[in-house]
Amino acid sequence: MVTIDTLKPGDTWACPKCHRPITMYTGGAVRGSLRAHKAGGGTCDGTGYGPFRRAFPQEMRVFGRDEAIARVRDVHGMPDWEPPVYAPGDLQEFVAAVWPQAKSFTIVGSGDRRGLVFTVGSRRWHYATHDCRLSGRCDFQADALDAFDEHEKRNSSV
Ligand SMILES: [Zn+2]
Repeated sequence: MVTIDTLKPGDTWACPKCHRPITMYTGGAVRGSLRAHKAGGGTCDGTGYGPFRRAFPQEMRVFGRDEAIARVRDVHGMPDWEPPVYAPGDLQEFVAAVWPQAKSFTIVGSGDRRGLVFTVGSRRWHYATHDCRLSGRCDFQADALDAFDEHEKRNSSV
C-alpha cells in the first residue's frame, strides 16, 4: 500500500476516473498527486488527483457533487457537512481548485446567487453556482449562460 510518507518514483495509484495505474509526483507541493495523463482524447480529469489529500474540489472534479459531499462527510466524520456558499471571488478560487486550467471567468446572476461562467480548455464552457454546483460541458459560452439562467429559474423559488 502506497502512502504519502513511503511514496517513491514509479509508485502508482489507480486513477479514480480512468482506473489505470498512474505514477505520482514525488516532490514539491504536488507530491502525491497523479501525473498528467490522457483519457478519451483529452487530459483525464483524474490528472492532479491527490489520494492523500481528500479535499472537496478535487473529489468534485472526479466523482461529481453528490458523491464528493458523501466522501467529505465520510472522510472527515462530519455527517451534516454541506458545501460552502460563495461570493464570486471565492467561487472563482473554488473553480480553480477543481479545474486549474479554468479561465475567462464572467460573473452571472444577481444578488447573493451570483455564479460564474468560464472555460476549461477550448470549446468547453461550464457554469458554477454560488452553492458549488458545476454544470456539464457546453460547447459555447452562450450555451453555458443559457444553462445557468435555466438553473436559476428552476431553483429560485421566490
Ligand atoms: Zn485517469
